[in-house]
Amino acid sequence: MNLTERDQNHLWHPYTQHKTAALPIAIKRGEGALLWDENNKEYIDAIASWWVNPYGHSNKVIADAIYKQLTTLEHVLFGGFTHEPAVILAERLMEILPKNQQKIFFSDNGSTAVEVAIKVALQYFFNKGEKKTTIIAFENAFHGDTFAAMAASGISFYTQAFQGMFIDVVRIPVPIKGHEKESFDTLHEVIKNHNCAGFIFEPLVQGAAGMVMYEPESLDELIKICQENNVLTIADEVMTGFGKTGKTFAMDYLTEKPDMMCLSKALTGGTIPMAITTFTSAIFDAFYDEDINKALFHGHTFTANPTGCAAALASLTLLQTQEMQDNIARVNKSHLAFQKHIESNLKVTTTRVLGVIFALEIKTESSASYYGTLRNKLYDFFIENGIILRPVGNIVYILPPYIITDEQLQKVYKVVEKVLEIV
Ligand SMILES: *Cc1c(COP(=O)(O)O)cnc(C)c1O
Repeated sequence: MNLTERDQNHLWHPYTQHKTAALPIAIKRGEGALLWDENNKEYIDAIASWWVNPYGHSNKVIADAIYKQLTTLEHVLFGGFTHEPAVILAERLMEILPKNQQKIFFSDNGSTAVEVAIKVALQYFFNKGEKKTTIIAFENAFHGDTFAAMAASGISFYTQAFQGMFIDVVRIPVPIKGHEKESFDTLHEVIKNHNCAGFIFEPLVQGAAGMVMYEPESLDELIKICQENNVLTIADEVMTGFGKTGKTFAMDYLTEKPDMMCLSKALTGGTIPMAITTFTSAIFDAFYDEDINKALFHGHTFTANPTGCAAALASLTLLQTQEMQDNIARVNKSHLAFQKHIESNLKVTTTRVLGVIFALEIKTESSASYYGTLRNKLYDFFIENGIILRPVGNIVYILPPYIITDEQLQKVYKVVEKVLEIV
């Protein structure tokens, strides 16, 4: 039996209806933007393996840092102990985060980074003796699959079985072009009618919604409204962080600063699962007290795993090289050229680009379902042609590793253009 067949005996895959899904492809090896399956077929990973891998597969620099850390101190509990990789990582993050972010809390994945932020927003007001229990989130948001993260998420595919079991969340429209006022007005109204503790958002790009984009000025305005009304703001940069938008963080495009930020995905260059939630000193101070009950009683066994921290440090160093910054600029320039070329195609309704993110929407008769037949047809065509892309309904997006070569990128564009002929 090959790996794909053996997989079916015991493995349960994420977001998968096993009865109707195609068999998984068994990947044996990766290098740079390329992956090879067990039959040695080559694929271009044009979505950086769910947006985690900016620096390429099997990256030697990160691998060496991990090996060195594993053979020095692989793990130690973070309750009552600390270690150099965590301390240095915190110091390095302070150099690149918005200046008001002063404290960092570790967890293991994007959902838990969000879970921590939401719990902190709620307990912040609890500790101050104020009753504020509602969280504000965007329509079609995606913040993860744990319970509070799911509550904040607005894509029904992920949450419909659990309606009625969530913390209190109210939604406002995304301030996409032409809908800014609607978004601002709804936020005012929501704050007036609910006791809102926090507003969580994916800054500038809603990833899982299909790379939906909106302007920094609009987010600045929403954050200002929250600040005027004592509502904490949470920038979920799990997808956008570490260069994807062309700046280190999407929040770097803004004038206003958030109270908290959530980081994961590219944090360790796609090697070791790790996440961070960052905070202002004012938030930390609301938990700093003689009273033990005011502490944040949240933690994970692998909190601040030293090996994960070492991987994050090596990843940060890679991101900050001129070579990597040039790669980001090169991919962006290339996307803009492809956008110009493809936007007049009659099968395309809209295109958008920010940093290394490119998206186009395909004209459809009716609205295309998230995991519907059009999506599957597109996906299968890409796989047949050796390109890993996961369309969202009728939206095709590209988010490659920064190190993807020009030749590989052109091949991805060609296949995207070709798919328009079969829809
Ligand atoms: C992927 C994602 C998450 C969830 O991260 P996981 O590591 O999958 O739990 C949260 N927020 C955003 C914006 C994401 O893109």
